[in-house]
Amino acid sequence: MTHPTYPHLLQPLDLGFTTLKNRVLMGSMHTGLEEIGDWERIATYYGDRAKGGAALIVTGGMSPNPEGGVFAGAAGLFTDKDIANHRIATDRVHENGGKIAMQILHAGRYAYNPNCVAPSPIKSPISPFPPKELDEAGIEKQIADFVTATMRAREAGYDGVEIMGSEGYFLNQFIVRHTNKRTDRWGGSYENRIRLAVEVVRRCREAVGPDFIIIYRLSMIDLVPDGSTFDEVIQLARAIEAAGATIINTGIGWHEARIPTIATSVPRRAFTWVTKKLMGHVSIPIITSNRINTPEVGENVLAEGCADMVSMARPFLADADFVAKAEAGLAAQIAPCIGCNQACLDHTFGGKTSTCLVNPRACYETELRYEPVAQSKTIAIVGAGPAGLATAIVAAERGHAVSIFDRAASIGGQLNMARKIPGKEEFDGLVDYYGSRIRALGIEMHLNTEADADMLAGFDEVVIATGVLPRDPGIPGQDGANVLNYIDVLRGGAKVGKRVAIIGAGGIGFDVAEYLTHEGESPAENLELWLREWGVTDPGEVRSGLAPEGPQPGAPAREVVLLQRKAQALGKGLGKTTGWIHRATLKMKGVEMVGGVNYEKIDADGLHVSTGEGRENPRLIPCDNVILCAGQVPDRSLADALIARGVTPHVIGGADVAAELDAKRAIDQGSRLAAGL
Ligand code: NAP
Ligand code: SF4
Repeated sequence: MTHPTYPHLLQPLDLGFTTLKNRVLMGSMHTGLEEIGDWERIATYYGDRAKGGAALIVTGGMSPNPEGGVFAGAAGLFTDKDIANHRIATDRVHENGGKIAMQILHAGRYAYNPNCVAPSPIKSPISPFPPKELDEAGIEKQIADFVTATMRAREAGYDGVEIMGSEGYFLNQFIVRHTNKRTDRWGGSYENRIRLAVEVVRRCREAVGPDFIIIYRLSMIDLVPDGSTFDEVIQLARAIEAAGATIINTGIGWHEARIPTIATSVPRRAFTWVTKKLMGHVSIPIITSNRINTPEVGENVLAEGCADMVSMARPFLADADFVAKAEAGLAAQIAPCIGCNQACLDHTFGGKTSTCLVNPRACYETELRYEPVAQSKTIAIVGAGPAGLATAIVAAERGHAVSIFDRAASIGGQLNMARKIPGKEEFDGLVDYYGSRIRALGIEMHLNTEADADMLAGFDEVVIATGVLPRDPGIPGQDGANVLNYIDVLRGGAKVGKRVAIIGAGGIGFDVAEYLTHEGESPAENLELWLREWGVTDPGEVRSGLAPEGPQPGAPAREVVLLQRKAQALGKGLGKTTGWIHRATLKMKGVEMVGGVNYEKIDADGLHVSTGEGRENPRLIPCDNVILCAGQVPDRSLADALIARGVTPHVIGGADVAAELDAKRAIDQGSRLAAGL
């Protein structure tokens, strides 16, 4: 039966030998779980997502051999024990009505491994290890290892494999001249360069027979110099189909590309137009991906004929029940992936297990459980920022009677400042989601209410999530009329002059700089503007999709100088996978970044700074306004008042520890507290 709201998204897909129950693929993500090797935890993670309605799940990348692992010791199907372990996960997915394919990921020169191999000995800019150039026998071994991995995947109960051919990994490295300088039958002409990818698919198909899903992930826009033209992409897709692939999945950009492809500032569905260019050129289904994070966006992408299926990866960390909720007409209750990368990719690249900023249970399903309570308690929560909201929702889901107090007129706390920054519009969705959950759970709201100790008397539990106050940097002249703090600017809408000095270059200093240099529509909400800003163009016109004129950012709205006292590059503490985007954005806007300063004083001329212990090199930074973004301190006033009256509240979020506080820690702390109340 056709679904009334999502007729395309929730339509089955007949693959001939098997049918997918809808058009939603849970895309591959490296979570680090396989390396930990707790297979009950892995099975629960995948099983929950199968239960939540994903038609086909693709695992994190599994190495076909040690030299191809993303790092030394990366997981793969190497032994009988590995096969038995993977079977625990595949069985769980099948018990929950889903299907699962194992991604085979050979990293080639991206492998963080001194034994890495590649078509040519050219070191990648994102790895310290120069790869060894493969000879004919070496190439044959790699193909054989792909085939072995495919056969073992079948033995482990997988419904298929995804052969990773995009994002600049091994097979992609053979395909483009950027990394393939060979002159033998694996290099030179395009036919030669795609020979390896095609041969891998052909031999894997030959080995497993016709009734096994083989997805090939194909780079449709490389975004690095000397990549493929779109005619070549079509040629490759046809060859991959002829070699026996069941489905073609979309890859966007190489990891070394200096263009963001999945971060929150990338417009939603920013690259589905690229996938659409392939539609009609092959007869197997095509999947599109990148920044699709609501059922509505997925539905529109399919209704517009951009693809036959959509891939969403991070949205399944944020909410395992994404599809089930869409199906049940509960889209507003889906915890949204805001594209922040803070708990998923940043963890992966920091060597930590992935989870999700909005859903701390992701990858921790067996440890962090929200069990119904035997005895309901009354719980007062003061503060409707991320810490308070997360606590409230989990506590109410478990069956407690929850009341929230906040002096503000609306929920969200600091999220309401984040959502003002161009490129952070996704925070809107998060605040809306919290609102929907509060209504659905019947949580009692007391907004515009300054809670005091009397009001909180009589509750079984009191949670203080009152957040933070701006730190007083104690700079002479900071009381002047030309000095503002970030709250005046982001919440109060204070008028800011054309020349600005920002004191403090943490997350908020960067945010304020982005806010003040920007004017007009946010590129995150206007695809054409965004593509121009980052220099992306039609790969049908220009090889790789790199605009010959390069990035064309809009003119900066203000002259901004961003400062910190530390004598190191600014932005070092920003997200591992997104910090470079913030730095590049500010560079494009001409922001001057100055580290290693002492703040001497502020006067009508501007900000006076010096350097070094001897306070040398005095410099005046002439400006109309100085904006204080010097960090934050806990707002514990209410907590202290309660303690003085003998009440012991739970203090969480910024009210607990403000240093390096962010929404990820606040939500995690609140959810974990509520799980135990
Ligand atoms: P922060 O990251 O701790 O940065 C505070 C800044 O103020 C630093 O640059 C620091 O640099 C400076 N500072 C500290 N003490 C100072 C003093 N006494 N006088 C002058 N300058 C001083 O804090 P934040 O920027 O307020 O951000 C708060 C939290 O929100 C962050 O931890 C962050 O996780 C989160 N956030 C994240 C993002 C993001 O992009 N992911 C965006 C916004 C906010 P020096 O000490 O070197 O001067
Ligand atoms: Fe999405 Fe951020 Fe969660 Fe990653 S951490 S899944 S980007 S919301």
